[in-house]
Amino acid sequence: MDRKDFVKRSAVAVLGTLMLTGCDTEKKKPEQQIDLSKKYNWKMVTTWPPNFPVLGEACQLFADWVHQMSLGQITIKVYGAGELIPALEVFDAVSSGAAEMGNGAAYYWAGKSPAAQFFASVPFGMNAQQMNAWIYRGGGLELWQELYAKFGLIAFPAGNTTVQMGGWFNKEINNIEDFKGLKMRIPGLGGKVLAKAGGTAVLSSGNEIYTNLERGVIDATEWIGPYHDYVMGFHKIAKYYYAPGWHEPGSVLENMFNMKEYNSLPDHLKVILETASARMNLWVISEFEAKNNEYLNKIKEEKSVEIRKFSPEVLAKLRTYTEEVLNELAAQDEFTNKVYQSFTSFAKNIRNWASYSEKAYHEM
Ligand code: CA
Repeated sequence: MDRKDFVKRSAVAVLGTLMLTGCDTEKKKPEQQIDLSKKYNWKMVTTWPPNFPVLGEACQLFADWVHQMSLGQITIKVYGAGELIPALEVFDAVSSGAAEMGNGAAYYWAGKSPAAQFFASVPFGMNAQQMNAWIYRGGGLELWQELYAKFGLIAFPAGNTTVQMGGWFNKEINNIEDFKGLKMRIPGLGGKVLAKAGGTAVLSSGNEIYTNLERGVIDATEWIGPYHDYVMGFHKIAKYYYAPGWHEPGSVLENMFNMKEYNSLPDHLKVILETASARMNLWVISEFEAKNNEYLNKIKEEKSVEIRKFSPEVLAKLRTYTEEVLNELAAQDEFTNKVYQSFTSFAKNIRNWASYSEKAYHEM
């Protein structure tokens, strides 16, 4: 839109307001009849342990908001991982209709399509604000829906971890060679990048990580950010806490709905589910920012761990390896390449804007 268009549109808007005022006395369309007596009892399966801080809490808040907004029409019972089904069966359970909805993160479903990872986070990808811009306003959501429709699902963003931490290390990382032989718990694409740097990505479930790090089974681990990491107690056994989480710069959490169930709802309930998902997105981001800030200070106060930043040289090398990993990923199939192209071109442009906005502001 240029100046001429803007002036023209503003004029039309003013005219529209006058006309609306003039129409006030005209006969209005009859209200859509809504059958409020129709109730929906839904199950929400999640990839998080029951009542998991922030992520699990947000699922319960979502259920509460939907119940309130729908005047009690939709009741959602939230199930933590393992309560009804294991964490990694959420996608299939919602796809088959065994549960009406689920909450997780799209990179867990890389086995269904490599493209799914772009709707959660990829190393050196975009931060929370930029992911929202791509998903809501840059074509990301349309691609996400296109992918999930193949599995009978509809997805909406429902949170973001914000920039994670780089992880807990028992040896210094001064240059890229320090990753050689390093055994680190780091899942997904981050693990593939580590392998290119000569390290080994080790799989450990959440409850094994602490003892594995303590006993030297692994030399390092990433988890989330200061809040969750503090709760896990890593600051008691690791020497160094490195920033930033280059491997997860803004992991999107998702609400997924069984498409048949979702489409069977009257329009106002669909709007409620989408709107409550957006509120959940905002709540999760805000909670992460507030809590990570508070717990980073707690970790600092305990003085048992040294908090460091990876050097620009180390990050530049990791970025080069990431480009290789993402190129290999995009080559896997046509749809993944389409998502990769959309993601990377949006990321490039928004980074340019950020250099004049967020980045310039933070550097003041
Ligand atoms: Ca992580």
